Amino acid sequence: MNILVIGGSFGGLTVAYDLRRRLRKHDCRITVIAKERRFIFIPSLPWVAMGKKSIADISFDLERPLERKGISFVEDAVLRIDPEQGKVHTGSDSHDYDHLVIATGHRSANEAVPGLGPFDGPGHSLMSPPEAEEARDTWRAFLEDPGPVVVGCAPGASCLGPAYEFAFEIDHMLKRRRLRHKVPIVFVTPEPFLGHFGVGGFGKAQQFFEGEFAQRDIRYVTSAAVTKITAESVELADGTTFESRYSLIIPPLGGARAVADSPGLANPKGFIPVDRHYRHKDFPNIHAVGVAVALPPVEDTPVPVNFPKTGHMTEQMAKIAARDIAAEISGGESTSHELMAECIMDMGGEAAHMVADPVRPPRNVSEMSKGRRWLWAKRFFANYFLWKMKRGATRSPKWVW
Ligand SMILES: Cc1cc2nc3c(=O)[nH]c(=O)nc-3n(C[C@H](O)[C@H](O)[C@H](O)COP(=O)(O)OP(=O)(O)OC[C@H]3O[C@@H](n4cnc5c(N)ncnc54)[C@H](O)[C@@H]3O)c2cc1C
Repeated sequence: MNILVIGGSFGGLTVAYDLRRRLRKHDCRITVIAKERRFIFIPSLPWVAMGKKSIADISFDLERPLERKGISFVEDAVLRIDPEQGKVHTGSDSHDYDHLVIATGHRSANEAVPGLGPFDGPGHSLMSPPEAEEARDTWRAFLEDPGPVVVGCAPGASCLGPAYEFAFEIDHMLKRRRLRHKVPIVFVTPEPFLGHFGVGGFGKAQQFFEGEFAQRDIRYVTSAAVTKITAESVELADGTTFESRYSLIIPPLGGARAVADSPGLANPKGFIPVDRHYRHKDFPNIHAVGVAVALPPVEDTPVPVNFPKTGHMTEQMAKIAARDIAAEISGGESTSHELMAECIMDMGGEAAHMVADPVRPPRNVSEMSKGRRWLWAKRFFANYFLWKMKRGATRSPKWVW
């Protein structure tokens, strides 16, 4: 029995480790294919953009930890999946599978707004390691001659938290350097209100973020549809133009090209339709987890905002999928549950801890709290998670996301 996992990040690693724990080695061979040979703790990319961490600090090489657990690792880029034949094609090879798990994450759809960057336009981003490094280098240059800044998200974005983090962190850094008076900050978001986060808001999030933005003198525009980013400005659909010498706008996401280019696998955006066990709706021997999965928005909003897929949610999906595959191969129970989300947002000098359970309203738990202790928890958790993934453990203490 051959189980092939595409992706070596939150989803792919969690599935591979969890399956290895559940299935005997002589019953099945597990292989992880990833185009990037390092696991990178993506939630720390805002710290890379702020120059607080390097990519080396937040990553490790995948091969040895996987092989120690009896999981093969192949560093290669998948170009196409043929679900009818049960084959995965890379540029130089093809791999057969009995069970396939797709955990290929996202593609930044920078083409959605002219000027989204950094490699397609003058805007900046932090959705990937090279983009976070570019944001860091250009931010350092900007500090030499500061001016107005616009931070936010493009219409259809789903990963909104990092834009808030970046706005809070630059506010904090600029104040410490006594430069804040030279840098008006505008936050633009497609959300109908602050703290919506693509999940309809939760608890007192709206009041909390409105208060924090007011306190920090960060001007904000909600239901904002960014239509163009130039080297000097950010333009909205209603004609408003903000002067900006540094614009960091989070793009909407699409599914990975390899998935989008494989007929019959994904929806038009390249995301994969799944059932409650994260099993493909048409191909029962394919599961998908994490950002690769198609999850509908919670509601229609005047400017589109999509449903987020966090690392914490990805881990939960991966464990449900692994249990389902293991149940099919060796018997046992397949279970599923509603996803919950727990996040810690760095606010510069302190942090906010947020819990929404389940993520989709109505909820049993909607909680927010703020304090310096959450910043320590976030720092601790980033290191703990790297350690845990290197060791091949798949359990996390409940309070740390
Ligand atoms: C800036 C930022 C901050 C975030 N902060 C948080 C946070 O604080 N808390 C939180 O819970 N979540 C956060 N998230 C979300 C979290 O990072 C994602 O939910 C998580 O990374 C999704 O994991 P994944 O395995 O689905 O995909 P990814 O992490 O995107 O990994 C995709 C994997 O697939 C591989 N791959 C892709 N295409 C191919 C191909 N063609 N062939 C072979 N391999 C391929 C890649 O190499 C990679 O290994 C943040 C995201 C960003 C961008």
